[in-house]
Amino acid sequence: MQRPYEIIIGLEVHVQLLTQSKLFCSCSTEFGAPPNTQTCPICIGMPGVLPMMNRRAFELGLKTACALQCEIARFTKWDRKNYYYPDLPKNYQISQYDLPLGRNGYLEIRSPETGQSKRIGIIRVHLEEDAGKSMHDERAGKADSRIDLNRCGVPLLEIVTKPDLRTPAEAKIFLQELKLLLNYLDVSDCNMQEGSLRVDANINIGVNTPEGPIPTPIVEVKNMNSFRAVERALTYEAERQYQEFLETGRRLGQVPKQTRGWDEEAELTRPQRTKEESSDYRYFPEPDLVPVVVSEAEIERIRTSLGELPQLLRERLETTYGITPYDSDVLVSQGRALVQYFERVATLCGEGKLAANWVQQEVLRFLNEHQVSLDAFPLPPERLAELLIMVRDRKLDTRRGREVLARMLSTGESAEEAVASLGFVDVGDAEIEKICRLVIAQNPKTVADVKAGKIKAVGGLVGQAKKINPHVDPAKVREMCLRLIEETA
Ligand code: ZN
Ligand code: MN
Repeated sequence: MQRPYEIIIGLEVHVQLLTQSKLFCSCSTEFGAPPNTQTCPICIGMPGVLPMMNRRAFELGLKTACALQCEIARFTKWDRKNYYYPDLPKNYQISQYDLPLGRNGYLEIRSPETGQSKRIGIIRVHLEEDAGKSMHDERAGKADSRIDLNRCGVPLLEIVTKPDLRTPAEAKIFLQELKLLLNYLDVSDCNMQEGSLRVDANINIGVNTPEGPIPTPIVEVKNMNSFRAVERALTYEAERQYQEFLETGRRLGQVPKQTRGWDEEAELTRPQRTKEESSDYRYFPEPDLVPVVVSEAEIERIRTSLGELPQLLRERLETTYGITPYDSDVLVSQGRALVQYFERVATLCGEGKLAANWVQQEVLRFLNEHQVSLDAFPLPPERLAELLIMVRDRKLDTRRGREVLARMLSTGESAEEAVASLGFVDVGDAEIEKICRLVIAQNPKTVADVKAGKIKAVGGLVGQAKKINPHVDPAKVREMCLRLIEETA
């Protein structure tokens, strides 16, 4: 569908880093503790205390910046971002302003419209501390607000993209790819429900006119609690801006940036406060922390420790095992452990596509049904491969293969044992041919139908053959019957 406007989207993502302790003190970062039990004089901003940088958090930030192909700052420092809010006891947030950890990177995604890969630019990646949480009870007659400072000082990585995203669906795919990357890096669990991944979006549209596109003012959208909400909120907001443009006509001149919040239930965005400019925050260098110098050797060490990341991993699986982009996408999105399992099975049975099908359909189904992770899957790859070799050599058809697998899973038997227990017999080709000749001779009407082009009629012959010997492979019988009928034509 051709829209009367182009959409321009940039994202600002905050992810909580997987560290045991906070960014500048030794308080625990564990989620779900009773309010205000994970605090100390440093993270609640008592006078005279001194922060100390968490090395691990810095390293996770570096790892991410490298994986996002950023230029890494050799010299970086901390800055105070000053603002007043009840959940910010220091009245400033320690962040990074003019010298972020990383800049000018990108993440490659596969565009939902074209299937082509596309680079989404990353403007900057920087570290900062989180603020606390305000909880407002807005039920009638209960106008109380509470503050939980457990989250104060928890390490966050802020990732800002260029306005390179062109559709709400593309924004969602970018977020999925970013989340996958962060999972592969072991940098964050990206749990949106627990707030360890938060997304804000900047969006405006360029309305097509004969004189060229006319841009609307940029709006920052907040309060989106899932990737699906991001897609829905941005779809709504683009259309709202278009309607506003139609009503107010061309707006010229500078309009201040507006902030709007997504209301999930009402399915619309509502205006919030006008957005501060960065000059309002009176940034200045943090005097209590030393700048950080990163050596070439350290960057090199981090780069070599990244491991194989999703995008290249998909490409390697496709070329090594001859599987489709869809297959590699499903496998890689399940994480490294499943990929390793698949690779082992594929190597042992020698057929990548077969292994991919069985791992996606059977192994994943088992994991979903039992709500367990791969380490709880009863079959090591060697055992599944034994079964797949039988399927590959057509000693078992797919349906019987599934029955054998179910038995292996429930009894712990090997593939061969399970085949024997189920009484499955591998019917030889000579025997199949004999049966096929018999049913062809007995069913002249069906044979005539097939010869007349009604290929589906061959199903009747397969049914007859199964009655004679229930162990025959229906696919083999089908092929054989068609061949024999063609030969006699
Ligand atoms: Zn603390
Ligand atoms: Mn931030």
